[in-house]
Amino acid sequence: MHVPRLIPEAAWLEQLSASVIVIIDGKLRYANAAALCLLQAESPDEVIGHAVTDFIHPLDVSRVLARIRRAQSEAVTNPATEFRIYTCRRRLLVLAMTSTHFEHGGQAGVLATFLDMSERAAMETRLRETDENFQRMMNTMQDVFYRTDAQGITRYVCPAVKNVLGYEAQEIIGLPAGAFYPDPSEREALIAAIRQHGAVHDFPGRMRRKDGAIIDISISTHALFDEQGQYAGVEGIWRDITERKRMERELERLATYDTLTGLLNRRCIIEQLEQALMQRADRRAQRPLAVLLLDLDHFKRVNDGHGHAVGDRVLRQFADVVLAQKRAPDVFGRLGGEEFLLLLHDADEATARQVGERIRQAVESTLIALAPGETTRLTVSVGLAQADPADRSPSAVLERADRALYKAKHRGRNCVCA
Ligand code: GH3
Ligand code: MG
Ligand code: MG
Repeated sequence: MHVPRLIPEAAWLEQLSASVIVIIDGKLRYANAAALCLLQAESPDEVIGHAVTDFIHPLDVSRVLARIRRAQSEAVTNPATEFRIYTCRRRLLVLAMTSTHFEHGGQAGVLATFLDMSERAAMETRLRETDENFQRMMNTMQDVFYRTDAQGITRYVCPAVKNVLGYEAQEIIGLPAGAFYPDPSEREALIAAIRQHGAVHDFPGRMRRKDGAIIDISISTHALFDEQGQYAGVEGIWRDITERKRMERELERLATYDTLTGLLNRRCIIEQLEQALMQRADRRAQRPLAVLLLDLDHFKRVNDGHGHAVGDRVLRQFADVVLAQKRAPDVFGRLGGEEFLLLLHDADEATARQVGERIRQAVESTLIALAPGETTRLTVSVGLAQADPADRSPSAVLERADRALYKAKHRGRNCVCA
């Protein structure tokens, strides 16, 4: 049945850019041109005479019908409400509708106007998703994301800060970021670098945890500016690198020190000798430099008789005896096995011989525990060599010391030879 469009006299409504409809008895009785266009009707028949429920999204039907009923029976004006509809072409739209009581031909109905809010709704969804993604990221991040204002007050910090510093984010927000630095000058250096370069990457720093422990951190951050171009604070991330630093220090220690005795290892003690030789070459008046090559006598017997573990302990004890005898500036290291090198700065041959002799006697007179109730004495042979003005590399000096040590062994051990 063809249902005529009601209220044809309202021609001006056809000019209106807002969508206007009249609902009587739950059916659409009028729709202006803007409404027909929004509903994607190819002719008014697709809309007029149809129940409003044909268009409303099933999940929004009861809410919208309640409002229509209220406007119809109570003569109230409903404030704008948003709901979803399907157009005649089955496109989903979000509308904002206001509805008010309306009478026509003695029948109570509803006059409604609506706007298409789909764009805004889509934007809000996108914004919400972006915000949710951001929150999810912040909640799962291991690094700490933060933002301060121009005064250095923390305005945001992500929850990960709890794992790293022990504080809840809320305990930190509102406080100066500098309050967590053990040394305020470290933060000043950071801010100065950011102001100069605009951003910093892997900037080193330290922070104090809630439990008082100091941690090493690495900061990557950039400056923020407001619309007027004024400095507005900083934003970035920092990460706890305490473990990495510890490992770096451990690797350095392993690369520098002998694990058994804690003395400088072969590479390092030879490096020290090389440096000393180079420093001498730079100076016009060359100060004397000597080395003592020390080798325990018949050390194999300790191992053979009491096992390697006892041998290890004896090597450590020997190192302690030498450390107690050496002069402060002298550098002592383990070349390997039971062979050690002592670098004597500013020592002529007589001084070097004195030091060697003192060590030899100290070793000889030290009682060494091998097993409960069993002690022994060890001796050491010492090869002495002076650095020549021509020496540029350690090898020549070490060769001479080796020959001197060989001589000491041949002379019956337990002596110092040059
Ligand atoms: P010499 O008086 O001629 O120097 O005799 P020696 O027995 O001391 O010399 P040799 O070079 O024949 O033996 C050195 C021994 O040192 C052999 C090896 O078992 C022992 N040794 C080398 N490095 C270690 C170590 O790290 N721990 C222990 N316990 N023993 C080691
Ligand atoms: Mg030996
Ligand atoms: Mg040896």
